[in-house]
Amino acid sequence: MRHYLLAAFLFLTSHSLQAAVVDFDTHFSDSTLRIDYIFSGTNRTQHIALDQLSKSAGWFGRRHNLQRLPLEGNGQLTMVDPQTGDTLYRHSFSTLFQEWQETEEARHVEKAFENTFIVPMPRRAVDMVVQLVDTHRRVSSSLRHRIDPADILIRDRSGEEQTPWHYIRKNGDSQEKIDVAFIAEGFAADQMDYFLALCDSSIAALAAHEPFRSLIDRFNFIAVTPVSHDNGVTIPHKGLWYDTALASSFDTFYSNRYLTTLHIKKLYDVMTGIPFEHFIILANTPEYGGGGIFNFYNLASARTKHYKLEVIVHEFGHSFAGLADEYAYGDDPETHYPADTEPWEPNITTLHDFNSKWADMMQQGTPVPTSPDGRDVTTKVGVYEGAGYQTKGVYRPVQECRMKVNNVPEFCPVCQRAITDIIKFYTE
Ligand SMILES: [Zn+2]
Repeated sequence: MRHYLLAAFLFLTSHSLQAAVVDFDTHFSDSTLRIDYIFSGTNRTQHIALDQLSKSAGWFGRRHNLQRLPLEGNGQLTMVDPQTGDTLYRHSFSTLFQEWQETEEARHVEKAFENTFIVPMPRRAVDMVVQLVDTHRRVSSSLRHRIDPADILIRDRSGEEQTPWHYIRKNGDSQEKIDVAFIAEGFAADQMDYFLALCDSSIAALAAHEPFRSLIDRFNFIAVTPVSHDNGVTIPHKGLWYDTALASSFDTFYSNRYLTTLHIKKLYDVMTGIPFEHFIILANTPEYGGGGIFNFYNLASARTKHYKLEVIVHEFGHSFAGLADEYAYGDDPETHYPADTEPWEPNITTLHDFNSKWADMMQQGTPVPTSPDGRDVTTKVGVYEGAGYQTKGVYRPVQECRMKVNNVPEFCPVCQRAITDIIKFYTE
């Protein structure tokens, strides 16, 4: 009798586990659905509006772990089967819009931002749910809408001319590897060779850091070479405006070094039909700057005299692995991470729920918080105050990590574990 019960239990468990796994081919076709949204609002309000839908041949994202999130992010996209209520696909992201909401400007004016997501094309009608969450990890706004793959207004872009691209390093089929695309920004035709050389040195820089060093064969690297009219990118504080493929610009939110593009639809137009899961935009400028936003993009200056490769690797830590900055601004009075909430980023803590972070990686007896002692600054795991732009109330795992300063050659052990987890999420 006991054996019978045990067998029944095992059957139920394995059955429910199997039912929980979404089979890619049952629910999706081998093509990409692109959804453009407009996120708008002020420091206090948020609106999500659907802009337009399009599709293209081939799906180059993951085909397993479909209903799991890589990390929580500042927002989530969930595809639901309206017949059964089952979740078919999820993804998470952070946005420039939410960063802007914390600026002074957002107190005075309403602004709108483009946001584009690509998902595998469902075979049948689905509901898409977009959610944005606040710094307390509570849903602050959401939109639910139906998408029918038979909708005649979903523009098919499969036959369109592609931006020139090629594999620089191909370690296997895109279904098994993580496809990372380097995109040339602000490179006229005569400087494209320089861009390709930069791609090579960026790959070498990534591969010089663990865990990329050990797991580099899980990546494919692609060079995408849209030709810009001008060499250089726009620098408003110098009065320099350039005509470039992605219309990127310094002075984002009036911050001199913050180099981004707000033209997300343009970016995805450039990428139509090209295999990629993550991208690194290399900007042809000697001006120091960059930005990396989780599952959004990574944009970095590629001509600076110092630290250009270090910045590219650091920003990839943000955009690929959702790592937070481990530095603090002494003069920033804003609370980015409230004390009553544990941040979702794996490499910082408010100590609200530290056991969910790197408590298991601390040597026994290490005090919490830990006083910096200037020894073993990159490897001795503790809980050091000052991170996430705050000098108080947010803590980092080591004294010095690649997510804090440019002159440290490695990610700290906590960041390394977080990056490894993400690589495995996409490839296992
Ligand atoms: Zn770190």
